[in-house]
Amino acid sequence: MSMNASSQQDYVYLMYMIKTEEKSTRIPAVTEMTPVWFRINRIQKDTHDTFTIDLQPPEEGFSFAPGQFNMLYMFGVGEVPISISGDTSRNDVLVHTIRTVGSVTKAMQNLKKGDCVGVRGPFGTHWPAEESAGNDIVIVAGGIGLAPLRPSIYYILAHREKYGRFVLLYGARTPKDILFRKELEGWRSRFDMEVLVTVDRAQTDWKGGVGVVTTLIPRSHFDPEDTVAMVCGPEVMMRFTIQDLHKRGVPYENMYVSMERSMKCGVGLCGHCQHGPSFVCKDGPVYPYSAIKDWFVKREL
Ligand SMILES: Cc1cc2nc3c(=O)[nH]c(=O)nc-3n(C[C@H](O)[C@H](O)[C@H](O)COP(=O)(O)OP(=O)(O)OC[C@H]3O[C@@H](n4cnc5c(N)ncnc54)[C@H](O)[C@@H]3O)c2cc1C
Repeated sequence: MSMNASSQQDYVYLMYMIKTEEKSTRIPAVTEMTPVWFRINRIQKDTHDTFTIDLQPPEEGFSFAPGQFNMLYMFGVGEVPISISGDTSRNDVLVHTIRTVGSVTKAMQNLKKGDCVGVRGPFGTHWPAEESAGNDIVIVAGGIGLAPLRPSIYYILAHREKYGRFVLLYGARTPKDILFRKELEGWRSRFDMEVLVTVDRAQTDWKGGVGVVTTLIPRSHFDPEDTVAMVCGPEVMMRFTIQDLHKRGVPYENMYVSMERSMKCGVGLCGHCQHGPSFVCKDGPVYPYSAIKDWFVKREL
C-alpha cells in the first residue's frame, strides 16, 4: 500500500501518540480537572525575571515524562500551563521554572516556602529521550526553553552510555538572562557532553559568544544522519533552528519541537490551544516536526 504525503504525516503522528500514551504516567491523587494542593518546599530566583519552585508531592510521589507540563493554579488569581523542569528519576520533588510575564506568573513569584499551589497534570506528550538511545543527541534551547528540556538532559546524562555524542546549544538574550548558569558550567566541564552558549547582545565584560543560537550549529560536533534533535524556544528561533539543522544534514523526521499556545483546560476540551488541526495540550506540546511541518511554517497559526 503506498501512502501520500498527508497520510504519511498522519501515520508518523499516530505512531508518536501511541508511544506517548503508553509512556504517559498519571497518579490517581492528581486529577485532570481538580487541582490538588502542593506545598512549596523551596522557591529561588534564577534570573531577574525567572524563578524555580520545588513542590512537595503527595506521599505516593509524582511521575512524569520529560517535556510534560502541569496546570499550576494560584488561588484567586488564575491557572497557567508550566513545564516540569526537574528530574524524572525523583518523584519526591516537583520542579517548575517560571518566567514572570503577566498576572498569574507575577503573583507566583511572591509565593513563599510553605505556601500552596494547585496542581493538575502531568499533561501532554514528551521528548523522545528514552526512545532516542543509540543516536547522537542535539538539544537546542532558547531562553526559558531550556526549562522544558532540562528533564531530557538529566535523563540522557543518567543513561549516558546508551547515546552517541551529546550536544547542548543554548542561546539567551543577554548574559543576565542565562538560565541554570551553575548547571551549565557543570555540564560544560564534562568530557562526555558538548555545551555551547551564546547571547544575542552583551557588554564588554562578557567573554562568551555573541550571536543567535543557530550560529552554534555549524561549530558543534555530531553525526547529522544519526542525530535526534530536540528544540524549544521562541517560534522564530525554532523555525531557523530546524532549517539550519536540516542544512547540516539532520533528517526532518529526527527533529522534535515543543509548542506554546494560550491554554485553559489542559485536557483538550476548550480549544484555546488549537494549533492547526491539533490541540497543544493533548497532542503536544512536544511534536515530531515532520507531523506538523505544514502548519508550523505558517506564522500566527
Ligand atoms: C505547554 C506549555 C508549557 C509552558 N511552560 C512554561 C514554563 O516552563 N515556564 C514558563 O515560564 N512559561 C511556560 N509557558 C508559558 C506560560 O504558560 C505563560 O507565560 C503563562 O501562561 C502566562 O500567564 P500570566 O497570567 O502570567 O500572563 P498573562 O497575563 O496571561 O499574559 C501576559 C502576556 O504574555 C502573553 N502570553 C501568555 N501566555 C503565553 C504563551 N503561552 N505564549 C506566549 N505568550 C503568552 C500574553 O499574550 C500577554 O501578552 C508554557 C506554556 C505552555 C502552553
